[in-house]
Amino acid sequence: MDKINIEDLEVYAYHGVNPEEKAMGQKFLISLELSLDLEDAGNSDDLDKTVNYGELCLAAEEEFKKEKYDLIESAAEKLAQFILNKYELVKSIKVCIKKPWAPIGRPLRYASVEVERGWHTAYIALGSNLGDKNSYLKDAIDKIDKLPGTIVKKVSGMYETKPVGYLEQDNFLNCVIEIKTLYSPKKLLEQLMIIEQILKRERIIKWGPRTIDLDIIFYDDMVISSEELIVPHPRMHERLFVLKPLNDIAPYLMHPLLNKRIMNIFEELSRVSEL
Ligand code: ADP
Ligand code: MG
Repeated sequence: MDKINIEDLEVYAYHGVNPEEKAMGQKFLISLELSLDLEDAGNSDDLDKTVNYGELCLAAEEEFKKEKYDLIESAAEKLAQFILNKYELVKSIKVCIKKPWAPIGRPLRYASVEVERGWHTAYIALGSNLGDKNSYLKDAIDKIDKLPGTIVKKVSGMYETKPVGYLEQDNFLNCVIEIKTLYSPKKLLEQLMIIEQILKRERIIKWGPRTIDLDIIFYDDMVISSEELIVPHPRMHERLFVLKPLNDIAPYLMHPLLNKRIMNIFEELSRVSEL
């Protein structure tokens, strides 16, 4: 991917654990590596098709000085989020913060931290079968869209489906959304579970009635196999109530483990289910 680099932008700011650092301030050096597509800008010679690095430096400096953090880790994290939210063209960014006057009582060139952050695409399956299902789904989508650094890009149709697993319960209403997010998979799951709690999800019977169920189906083409998070969702390929809405918004998406496109997985399962 193409890059824009800023190296060692000098900024006077007030980050540090020691009270003197917050009172007197010190010099910091900010380096930024922006990953973005510069082909259009290069071919059109149009400043609007790239990131104006003069403006970027001023905005980064202003953001960096806005708060006084104990840690340069925090300053780097916030700066990365700020730039990714401000410049839509930027896909990912490396932020390096150097502290050449770090007060450790020994001479050193600098202490530094570097973080790399970027936009990710995730698919989330939503289901509800208690109360006003339609408004639970709408509410959940709205809350996901309001999460910081998260944007709902696509929403499938809403489909009513019969329950699977525990059958003595009302029909479900299901849909799938595509989001763009700065959250890591683990943080995204945490946020979804908080939204489930806010919407008073009841978790009494396994696969039983619930006001809202939010599952991560895909996160980029990542494969995750931890205790609390399995991605791609391990049962998505056998659930028509996930595949049908997903096929609305991402028919050509590849399942990274099955190596098949959603449209084909959906079609095969629909055929078998009709038998
Ligand atoms: P289900 O979604 O299969 O009906 P639950 O919602 O009750 O079941 O299961 C929630 C648990 O599943 C969570 O505690 C979470 O840690 C775990 N989990 C594993 N993989 C995923 C995933 N891809 N999306 C959401 N939850 C997951
Ligand atoms: Mg779930």
